[in-house]
This record gives sequence, structure tokens and C-alpha cells, in this order.
Amino acid sequence: MRQFYEAAAYDPAWPASHWAGTVPLQTLAPLQGAARAEVAVIGAGYAGLNAALVLARGHGVDVAVLEAAQPGWGASGRNGGFCCLGGAKLADAGIVARHGVQGARDWRGFQRRAIDHVAGLLEAEGIDARQGPEGEALLAHSPAAYGAMRAGAEAEAALHGSAPRLIPAGALAEHGLAGPGFFGAALGGEGFPLNPMRYVQGLARAAGAGGARIYGRSPVTRLEPVQGGWRLTTPGGSLIAAKVLIAGNGYAPEDLQPWLSGRTLPVFSAILVTRPLSAEERAAQGFTSPLMAYDSRHLLHYFRHLPDGRFLFGMRGGLSARPKAEAETLARLRKHFEALFPAWKRAQTETAWSGLACLTGSLAPYIGPVPGAPGLFAAFGWHGNGVAAASLGGAEAARLIAGAPTSLPALITTPPRRFPFPRLRRLALRAAYAGYALRDGPLPR
Ligand SMILES: Cc1cc2nc3c(=O)[nH]c(=O)nc-3n(C[C@H](O)[C@H](O)[C@H](O)COP(=O)(O)OP(=O)(O)OC[C@H]3O[C@@H](n4cnc5c(N)ncnc54)[C@H](O)[C@@H]3O)c2cc1C
Repeated sequence: MRQFYEAAAYDPAWPASHWAGTVPLQTLAPLQGAARAEVAVIGAGYAGLNAALVLARGHGVDVAVLEAAQPGWGASGRNGGFCCLGGAKLADAGIVARHGVQGARDWRGFQRRAIDHVAGLLEAEGIDARQGPEGEALLAHSPAAYGAMRAGAEAEAALHGSAPRLIPAGALAEHGLAGPGFFGAALGGEGFPLNPMRYVQGLARAAGAGGARIYGRSPVTRLEPVQGGWRLTTPGGSLIAAKVLIAGNGYAPEDLQPWLSGRTLPVFSAILVTRPLSAEERAAQGFTSPLMAYDSRHLLHYFRHLPDGRFLFGMRGGLSARPKAEAETLARLRKHFEALFPAWKRAQTETAWSGLACLTGSLAPYIGPVPGAPGLFAAFGWHGNGVAAASLGGAEAARLIAGAPTSLPALITTPPRRFPFPRLRRLALRAAYAGYALRDGPLPR
């Protein structure tokens, strides 16, 4: 199979995240020999497992999930745990231009339902993954960015009926949001932090208990149409299913299916977690808020305090999975952490890792049938914000497959276009990152 990055990015042994040490992980046996199912799902992340749960339990469908590594091995088990609004890279103005004002409102409605969907799942399945209060803080990385936030708040209120609460630079300290790189904030009331691995492991257990068969160490190396559906080939066996959902997101091989090829752009995001900080250390920095937080840079930083006192800090970027490049990415991550939180320079990194998120050629996710391939469906492209969106996206994909009513906004049922020069995606990404870094400006000194 042809992968987008070097083989190391897809090695089941790479990398261990902080979360992997916080929850018992399931090790599931591979598919062996010939098997059949009504529906096959490729990928055991939030999208694939939500789909499997809805199909098996909600519709009594015989469903088999094939996972290259183990449940939650992909982005779903190694993200920042921000269960929040998001999922598309396209801003509201672009969505309005494509799908009208109602289209933008429908998309926001989907994002809100996605957060509620995860909250409901945790509650219903007894998954103890929540880690903090509701809401999030968007921190302005420059005075100009704060000005843009203020202007944007009015547009937000006009379009979506509610606006974030604005906090000027001088009031950040009293909200526990102070730092040398922050110049104001917008507080939103939606979303909540969670332990992503606890969520995905609980989800896999629920899907299994609901009747889904989940196979670990079963990468689908070939997907071909056959009489009565599709044959999925893995190193140890093959499975024939009438319908298939492709839910491999940033980890799906480039050549798994011709229509998908060139329509996605897997991108790295990296995270470090520090040793626990004392109350004095937190106070010394002035950043004590328990809210999920991120900044307004194009190459955004995202960060939050964990319930055990550790601090999680992540950022987008990285162009290669080669060990040297990975080491450089993690060194850059640490440098940015120390620049934004200088009082914590002595709080060493306990764990650092990276993973792949997925962009599309249309800057929006896609949930729907694969054009020209009857029985084949796909759900992907959460643009680095899939904790909520991929979860509801997977559940909605299942309803679509089962022929049940769905409620999907036009933005994400429109098949994404192919990137103009697919072979040049990595070059284009390098140029985009360089441009973003220039526009974001220097780090605080
Ligand atoms: C470091 C990082 C931080 C992030 N932080 C956040 C955050 O805080 N909040 C947020 O909302 N989002 C965040 N994201 C994004 C979020 O994690 C993803 O959008 C979401 O997990 C995607 O879920 P998924 O099920 O679509 O894909 P994944 O979880 O990536 O699962 C895909 C699975 O498919 C499997 N697979 C692929 N190809 C095959 C094949 N051929 N055969 C069998 N199996 C296959 C892979 O092994 C993988 O396990 C982050 C991502 C990263 C990498």
C-alpha cells in the first residue's frame, strides 16, 4: 500500500502517548481466514467505532471492523482531548459563499450536536472520560488578532445567535489566562475536555458488547468489488461485505480506493505533557484556568491543565516521520511551550508524541457514498478537530448505510474536490507552513 508519509508514521509501535499509560488498552486478534459481514468498517477510531456501534446495536446489522493496529491507535487515542466545535478549515464566510447562510447555520448545528453526542455517549455507556468544565478560551496572539476577534464576535452573533465573551488583555490575569504571548481572549461556552484514550477504549468495548466484531492487526491492503459487495484483504484473511465504510482518516493508504486518492492531505500535530505542576508554579505563570485553550495563530497552539496537575501543550506542523524530523518537531514544540509559558521552563516533558489529522481538498469533512462505487461509503477530513465531529460523523454514516434518516449539513455531504496537483501536496504544505509562520510572527521573548 502507498502511504503519504514515511513508514514510521504507520508503525503500530509508534508512538506511545501520555494517554496510553492512563487506561488499560485492548489487544484484539486479527482477522484470519475467509469471513463475511453485512457491513465492514475500515478503521477503529471515533468515526469507525461510532459507526459500528450504531449499526450493530441500533440497526441489528452484522458489522466487522478491521483495524490496522488496535482500537484508538490512530489520532483518536493520541489527541489533545478537546471535545469542541470545529471540523472544517473553511471559515464562515466561505461556507456562506458555498452553501448560503442556512448552510453555515446547519454546519454549526452539526458541531453542537456532535459535542452533545459525545457527552451523551459517555453518560450512556458509563465511560468516565470527562476531564474538566465546559467552555474554551481562544487567546489572541497579537493586539491585531484581538481586534479581529472583536470584529468577528459581532458577525458570529449575527450568524449564529450567540457571541463569545471578550476579555481584554488587561483582564486576562483575573481569568487565569495570562501569558507573554496573549493579548486578549474570547470565551466560548461549548465543549469539554476528555481523556481521548479512555473515550475510544470505552467506545470499542461498547461496540463489541453491541455485537460488532473488531479485529486488531488487520490492515486492509486491498479493497475490490466482487459479486454481492466488496472484498477486503488483510495479511491474515479476507472479508466480503455488502457495504463498506472507509474511516481511516489521516492513516488511510493513498491507494486504498481510486476516488479517495489525492482528495486528502494528512498533517501532523504534536503534543507534549509535562510533569505535574505545583499550585505555586501555576500561579507564578498566571495561567491557572481549567478551560481548554488555544491561540489565534495559523499554526495554532492548543493547551490545557490536566486533572492530575500535568500540562498538555500541542501544536500543528511537521513534514516528515523520519526520526530526525520527528525529533526536530518535538524540539520546536518544547521551544514554543517555553516561550509561551516561561515560568514552566523547568517543568520537564514527560511524554511527547505526534499523530496524523486529515485535511481535504475542499477544506471540509465528507460523509457519504463514494461516487461511482456502489456500497462504498467514507467519513473523513475533520481538519484536526474530530473528537466531536468524527464521532457524530461516524454515527451519521452508519444511519446512511442502514438507510435510516440522517441530518447532515450540505457542507459535509458535498464530495471534496481533489487537490490540484496531488503529487505536490507535501511541497505545498511546506510552503503553506512557511507562509503561516511569517504571518503568525515571532514568539514572545
Ligand atoms: C496530535 C493530535 C492532536 C489532536 N487534538 C485534537 C483535539 O484536541 N480535539 C479534536 O477535536 N481533535 C483533535 N485531533 C484530531 C482528532 O484526533 C481526529 O480528527 C479524530 O481522532 C479522527 O478520528 P477517525 O476515527 O476519523 O480517525 P483515526 O482516529 O485516525 O482512526 C483511523 C484508524 O484507521 C486505521 N486505518 C487506516 N487505514 C487502515 C487500513 N487500510 N486498514 C485498517 N485500518 C486502517 C488506523 O490505524 C486508525 O486507527 C488531534 C489529532 C492529532 C493527531
